[in-house]
Amino acid sequence: MTKNKSKCIRGIVVAIKANFLIVEITFQDSKKHYIDQNSEKIRLLCTKRSKLDYQGFFIDVGDIVFVESIDYENKRAVISYVEPRQSFLKRPSVANVTLIAVCVSVEDPLFNSEQTSRFLITAESANIQPIIILTKIDLISKNSLNLYVNKLKLWGYDSFAVSIKNLQGFDLIIERLSQSRLTVLAGPSGVGKTSLINKLIPSLSLPTSSVSKKLRRGIHTTRHVELFSIGNGSLLADTPGFNRPEIVSNTSSFATFFPEFRAQLIHSKCKFRNCLHRDEPGCVINKDLERYSFYRENLEEMINSHLPYQGD
Ligand code: GDP
Ligand code: ZN
Repeated sequence: MTKNKSKCIRGIVVAIKANFLIVEITFQDSKKHYIDQNSEKIRLLCTKRSKLDYQGFFIDVGDIVFVESIDYENKRAVISYVEPRQSFLKRPSVANVTLIAVCVSVEDPLFNSEQTSRFLITAESANIQPIIILTKIDLISKNSLNLYVNKLKLWGYDSFAVSIKNLQGFDLIIERLSQSRLTVLAGPSGVGKTSLINKLIPSLSLPTSSVSKKLRRGIHTTRHVELFSIGNGSLLADTPGFNRPEIVSNTSSFATFFPEFRAQLIHSKCKFRNCLHRDEPGCVINKDLERYSFYRENLEEMINSHLPYQGD
């Protein structure tokens, strides 16, 4: 902590632009006249104290920092301290994520269990709570939707169903996202993430439709994630699209990334402490669970490739 802690203000890094870090702080009453009207937050263009470099601090979006030497008029400040992180998501790289909302469409593109599981495992392996947002529900019947919701319940996940076309389910999503301090929207491209973000933050108007988005990606291939406010102090990350996240795990912890397996292991223990839940005697995992075959296939792949542990 710096000597001038009393003059420091706590904030969060919401973007990285060139060599600057953009830090959002809550306004201080005495300086209120410099703040945009109707806004409780202010974003400052920051550099960091060089001692942070010597101490090896690598600051990323989502980091909680203290800023000092604040120039409210020009919206500039200096970062003097970085708080330890609660979590870190590697792709996209964001610190302190409290929720990963995995967006998958029920149609166009069709729901895909394997792909959805890969996104969920990315969240589980980073130890960040996931929820599932089922999008484009205007394209299917209520009965078909119920089948998806029940399926996901058996996997151990809450799901939220939404249509951006008729706004069905939208309020419940806002409510859920407002309970999380920093949410990352993940999911394959084409499922409606940008449409959802634009509804949540109308002032953004990010381009949807594949053509304009391809252009956007072309221009910003190395861009960092940016955090947007969705009210109530909650932030949302705009993520670059990737369709098939790698499963990064070692063989022994892989089963812990499946809530339906965890639920069984809480109640009873396998005979062998290092059980991989294959064909070991005294294994308590129910092999009839829907995602068992997905678990098994990926486990065998890990064993065969002798994948070194990359979890840290
Ligand atoms: P992203 O790649 O996940 O960001 O997806 P986009 O937001 O760009 O949406 C891809 C396409 O799906 C666009 O043509 C959208 O108009 C369409 N779309 C998005 N949400 C919905 C929805 O709720 N219902 C229907 N029918 N189409 C949607
Ligand atoms: Zn077992």
